[in-house]
Amino acid sequence: MSLIRFGIDLGGTKIEIIAIDASQEAGLSGNDNVLYQKRIETPKGDYVATLNALSQLVLEAEEILSQVGSVGIGIPGSISHKTGRIKNANSTCLIGQDLQGDLQQRLNRPIALANDANCFALSEAVEGAGQGAEMVFGVILGTGCGGGIVVNGQILNGINAIGGEWGHNPLPWLGANECQLPCYCGLNGCNETFLSGSALEAHYSMRMHLINSVGRIKTAKQIVALSLQGDEIARKLMHDYTIWLAKGLASVINVIDPDVIVLGGGMSNIHSLYTDIPNIWAEWVFSDQVNTRLVAPKFGDASGIRGAAWL
Ligand SMILES: [Zn+2]
Repeated sequence: MSLIRFGIDLGGTKIEIIAIDASQEAGLSGNDNVLYQKRIETPKGDYVATLNALSQLVLEAEEILSQVGSVGIGIPGSISHKTGRIKNANSTCLIGQDLQGDLQQRLNRPIALANDANCFALSEAVEGAGQGAEMVFGVILGTGCGGGIVVNGQILNGINAIGGEWGHNPLPWLGANECQLPCYCGLNGCNETFLSGSALEAHYSMRMHLINSVGRIKTAKQIVALSLQGDEIARKLMHDYTIWLAKGLASVINVIDPDVIVLGGGMSNIHSLYTDIPNIWAEWVFSDQVNTRLVAPKFGDASGIRGAAWL
């Protein structure tokens, strides 16, 4: 059995690989068991280039470490039980592709694949911010908006392999004048179109009437910074965003009632969310009290990739 486990996070904007020394127990030593790490940009909209990048990352790492290892990949989508191919990916060039088979062929070994949100939730539930909790809901608020449910240390995949896929439910309890943007999945007003970093940028642009002047569109990070500086539009948008997220998470609590909700992705860096949301979410939770804890990820951006390595 291999001593090295490679975890790969295949994101919409970046691909990252880590090598974990599997001779030490996961999580016991924090990041100490990470032997190697590299991050590159994701080839945009090109499946073959993405395949090449993935296999090259593994081979390069193995050359540097002079050792081969197992490979687990967190993907921005899920694997169809029916066809074995990728579905529901926000990196749409992956949809319908046999990523697992194609990579197994290139790297000549079995490859474990799981939804990136499931990897994130697994790592945070087992060795991170949700450690010790019976049920953890992990949410990624990044380029897209995904979720994963871990019960007693096990990913709840579900019969359709969409357990925790909360991003494409509609955001509930919207006001009459709130704008529902179209989603790549074909529907309108999905959680993802309100809660992802890209959604924040789209709503800001819309409010600034800047949809057609691309050069002036702000990134999610800039919008958050602007709101802290008192920019009126950014401040109002972040106020609305907090309410949107509270409503979205309340709808999850009403269905699975998790002990802990861990936020991940770029938007999880907004510290105010962890105090503001628990202050208001009781309004939409069907209970006289809310004991669910909303927490920041222990491993930050590294949670998903650590989970992938241990698949
Ligand atoms: Zn959608």
